[in-house]
Amino acid sequence: MTHLLEVQDLVVKFGLRSGDLTALNGINFTLNPGERMGLVGESGAGKSVAGFSIINLISRPGFIASGRVLFEGEEISAYPLEQMRGIRGNRISMIFQDPMMTLNPVLTIGTQMVETIQAHNQVSAAHAREIALEKLQKVYISSPGKRLGQYPHELSGGMRQRVVIAISLLTNPSLIIADEPTTALDVTIQAEVMALLLELCKHEHMGLILITHDLGVVSQVTEKIAVMYAGRIVEQGPTAGIVTNPRHPYTKGLIQALPQGGGGRGRLHQIPGMMPNLTSIPPGCAFHPRCEHAMDICQREAPPLFGDSENSGLVACHLYSQSR
Ligand code: SF4
Repeated sequence: MTHLLEVQDLVVKFGLRSGDLTALNGINFTLNPGERMGLVGESGAGKSVAGFSIINLISRPGFIASGRVLFEGEEISAYPLEQMRGIRGNRISMIFQDPMMTLNPVLTIGTQMVETIQAHNQVSAAHAREIALEKLQKVYISSPGKRLGQYPHELSGGMRQRVVIAISLLTNPSLIIADEPTTALDVTIQAEVMALLLELCKHEHMGLILITHDLGVVSQVTEKIAVMYAGRIVEQGPTAGIVTNPRHPYTKGLIQALPQGGGGRGRLHQIPGMMPNLTSIPPGCAFHPRCEHAMDICQREAPPLFGDSENSGLVACHLYSQSR
């Protein structure tokens, strides 16, 4: 079976006067049609760079230094900008954290949706309006006809994000990349929006890459996870296995930092230290200054990913290389 998406040894750098900084250091993963995957990690882990580089949306001075991205069997990382525009917002849609990054504040929701539909399909304005209405109904927005005539500022944050999700559906994409889609919303609305995304992905058989720092959200929505640290994937595999039996000390720390991870009692666990800056990534295992299990080898050698991607999953940690 052709994968929906295949990311092979992807390296992204930022060219600075002082030299190139590596933001993404050789990541690999695949996604099947209709499959949902979480890219997880703290700020600066490289998860958004990974998501944006799939559709070559890395702004200068960032650039893809090596590696390939294949979408439905086509090597889209080799596409020129014009050809890539035909993929973005069409076969691959993006949902951003802040709906106002997608919505134009001076145009009504209806105008924006009709323009998007007509940019991709040769249909009349009346037909485009019918499609827009149908998509707003799909995201369970109240009074969808009225919303078409409203401006973004007239809607609540949760409603705006529903509109953005409806816009992302306009071209019937086969993949949605959602970058922290609920971070700007309050907790109850977050849960509603995530449940909606899950339902739509299942119903429309769309693949999903969910970029988030929240392992709790990922565990409810995705089937597999890649945990990122300092531009590398440090653990990846089936969601259920990683959440119930994490192996990398960083993944364990992220899970213990969840309210339910600490058993709901006392103070939340905190991973000591900070994610390193791109300019000062420690040698060896980049996590070693924060790791309570660090050994001498950890300071010298970066561990490769060990294991089996389909079953127990892969983990980049010398603890597992020694036990093999
Ligand atoms: Fe900790 Fe070493 Fe494993 Fe890195 S390789 S996570 S420092 S034990």
